[in-house]
Amino acid sequence: MRLDRFLSESTELTRSLAKRALSRGEVDVNGELEKKGARHIQDADRVTWNGQPLALVGLRYVMLHKPTGVECTARRGLYPRAVDLIDLPKAERLQPVGRLDVDTTGLLLLSDDGQWSHRVSSPRRGCAKVYRAELARPLAGAEAERAVTAVAEGILLEGDEQPTRPAELALLDAHHARLTIHEGRYHQVRRMFAALGNHVETLHRESIGPLHLDDDLAPGEWRELDDAEVKAFY
Ligand code: URA
Repeated sequence: MRLDRFLSESTELTRSLAKRALSRGEVDVNGELEKKGARHIQDADRVTWNGQPLALVGLRYVMLHKPTGVECTARRGLYPRAVDLIDLPKAERLQPVGRLDVDTTGLLLLSDDGQWSHRVSSPRRGCAKVYRAELARPLAGAEAERAVTAVAEGILLEGDEQPTRPAELALLDAHHARLTIHEGRYHQVRRMFAALGNHVETLHRESIGPLHLDDDLAPGEWRELDDAEVKAFY
């Protein structure tokens, strides 16, 4: 890798600021001043910037307890972005794996490993996503039984051409339900309950595949996944 690219990959510097740092003589390679951005850096080379040793940022995998009022977008908009809550170097490289609505809470995965993110979110893999929904209208008795059957058989949502994939609905009490889906359509959970004549007041994602949101992560808190958790999706 070229030295100027190495600098911008391992620091907060943009490529042009990295070039400026080089021309100012702020960069050493193996203890010697280096000003040429085109120099090729090998694994064994030790690069420092203003005396600070640099290393490339590896691939990162993060579990965030997404609070309400936070967006899962890459661009800055009306709300703070999920990625702004992650205090890691080059955090802006992390991409949310799938999206949660701005007012949905719970498990959000973020990573800069595009292949892994694709594995987790690919509809072909049908990874289970479990949501807990608070419902505006009570759902009980025969109506609840009909809802469980409709969800298991698939529901044709307004504007869609195909019914939803078979999913599992469990009633926790008259106003709370757990819904497990195996795809990720736009506003899917809210639209499924709307199709059942109800309205979701609050929505929380509890798990994705084998990964459950940690009980001790407060809204807004995050942690990196360990190797076993990352590999669980392979
Ligand atoms: N389904 C929704 O309707 N909203 C979410 O945030 C996630 C799934």
